Amino acid sequence: MNIHTRKTYSIINLPALVNNYNIIAQLAPHSETIAVIKANAYGHGAIEIAKCLSKHVSVLAVALIDEAIELRDAGITLPILIMEGPLSRDDFSIALQQNFWLMLHTEQQIDWLTSLYPDYTGQLWLKIDTGMNRLGIKADDVEEIITKLSTKHLQGLVLCTHFSSSDEVNNPKTKSQIQSFERINQRYGFKKSLANSAGILYWPESHGDYNRLGLALYGSSPLPIEHLPVKLTPVMTLQSTIIGLRKLAIGETVGYGEKWQAKRPSTIATIAIGYADGYPRNAKNGTPVFIKGQIAPLAGRVSMDMITVDVTDISDIELGEKVELWGNNLAIETIAEYLDTVNYELLTRVSSRVTRIYVE
Ligand SMILES: *Cc1c(COP(=O)(O)O)cnc(C)c1O
Repeated sequence: MNIHTRKTYSIINLPALVNNYNIIAQLAPHSETIAVIKANAYGHGAIEIAKCLSKHVSVLAVALIDEAIELRDAGITLPILIMEGPLSRDDFSIALQQNFWLMLHTEQQIDWLTSLYPDYTGQLWLKIDTGMNRLGIKADDVEEIITKLSTKHLQGLVLCTHFSSSDEVNNPKTKSQIQSFERINQRYGFKKSLANSAGILYWPESHGDYNRLGLALYGSSPLPIEHLPVKLTPVMTLQSTIIGLRKLAIGETVGYGEKWQAKRPSTIATIAIGYADGYPRNAKNGTPVFIKGQIAPLAGRVSMDMITVDVTDISDIELGEKVELWGNNLAIETIAEYLDTVNYELLTRVSSRVTRIYVE
């Protein structure tokens, strides 16, 4: 059975995905643009997104080998970069069999490689820590690590790093990370990969042999919109419907904890989406919701399965009316600001209870 009577959908616009990929890839014509589809393709459905992109891209990336195995099982044949690398010694043989590219970032991973797989011929990436201080080999240790690697390991090696602040256009950190990276690599001349979405869009000096495109592929911006060099189209529209309508007199309250109170005779619409669907519970009164071409403010606490919205100023509202939580008409960046979070988190939080509909 596959019946969805609740009309709460994440509508995924595949032509927009392809268009975003193409216009962003054109910003770095000398780089290979890898499509990052970790975390279920940022909540868009990794298998469907990979199938769609397979005709347009030549490498995919995920965080975990488990995510890559799921894609192989679904018939995806492109090389897949595993950005957290091997998490056990056996992962090397899986990677070799499956054409997964491993991003190595710890001495332990290097030790597994050199002791157990001295003739490993799979594609390897080596991550350098240039100031993110999360994963990667410290600048001072790079030389020692590289001397441990065999000729086969070094064949085609890609040196990479990750930016901590590339979304902040006035922050000098990105340039200093690029400089640290170049200083190390000038000794070796390995192929290189530095740029994430913000790097591709805003820091052309970060473009390498490979760039790693995540968020912007989905039409969301890692930068203040005014700094985008191209127009991105949101791929996800989160949509639901009105399942309840009521009139409130002055002084009446709405929802758990009575967090909203009518200051005028009001109409409240109840909408079939809640925090169990990924609409965050910390959304405050006033968070915008798009209904019938207008913006209506959230009124009262987000429940598990529902939200309530003040639709007093919208005429001719009826049950079943469509509502957009974010997407084409309501920028996810705006919602993220209201919620004191980032578009990345909103996208990846949409839960499996929300039916995804793919528009081709
Ligand atoms: C997630 C990730 C990316 C993609 O970042 P976006 O900001 O979404 O483009 C690139 N590189 C690494 C190592 C990542 O973990």
